[in-house]
Amino acid sequence: MTRRRWIADTWDEATASLTGNQAGHLIRVLRAEPGMEFDIVAGGRVWHSVIAGITGDSVRFNLIAEVEADPALPVTLLLSVFKFDRMEWAIEKVTELGAARIVPVIARRSDKHLAQAATTRAERWRRVAVEASKQARRSDLLQIDEPLPLKTALRAEENAVRIVLAEQERSSTLRHALSEALIAAGDEVPSIRIAVGPEGGWTGEEEAMFDAERWKAVSLGPRILRAETAAITAMAVAAALLE
Ligand code: SAH
Repeated sequence: MTRRRWIADTWDEATASLTGNQAGHLIRVLRAEPGMEFDIVAGGRVWHSVIAGITGDSVRFNLIAEVEADPALPVTLLLSVFKFDRMEWAIEKVTELGAARIVPVIARRSDKHLAQAATTRAERWRRVAVEASKQARRSDLLQIDEPLPLKTALRAEENAVRIVLAEQERSSTLRHALSEALIAAGDEVPSIRIAVGPEGGWTGEEEAMFDAERWKAVSLGPRILRAETAAITAMAVAAALLE
């Protein structure tokens, strides 16, 4: 039996509380009562919990025992911002597929007004990530960083496995590059960063920057995928090799 899973708003080592619209839903729709059992995500861990009390619009739980967590896959996606409705769809899908983090990046061919709106849009993207994390019964939340210029984002975490999805690339595939990286990493699982370009693709200068920073250019096949399709495909390939 899988208990409904909720993400705590506040917690300490023995209790957790839901407030706001999550608590409202619990109280009014699920008719919460003391004694009812739920899984509560608190501090990145999942707890079998029991409602201890309900006051106003707040539900307090006693944390009974930790439930085995299914941590995210160690994959960070550098997503060049693209049309926001498609971006939100991609965020939801890669959350379901187990990505750990998204870094929204501004590439040379990123649409200018999307780039300007990205920082204010990030809060909404985080809400999409929380909802998708809950729906997927994740034990942790997909993290969404503040948008960064590509130049900054591609230099971060230099020890990670760095893979750039390059629509011009023909020789190396994502599956092959990831398989090789996992073999080279032996029994520990490396941190993986996968960069997805904007609708207009990468510029030659950006490809040279990736190359200079030793990013591995890979192909997802001969067809040109939309950015959101490329992000989801890459996450699915990574999940298949990492699970
Ligand atoms: N406007 C470009 C396509 C950009 S698609 C053109 O028509 O050529 C957006 C991004 O998705 C690309 O920058 C790349 O990161 C990724 N992508 C799309 N298709 C791909 C493929 N077949 N192989 C690798 N990456 C791909």
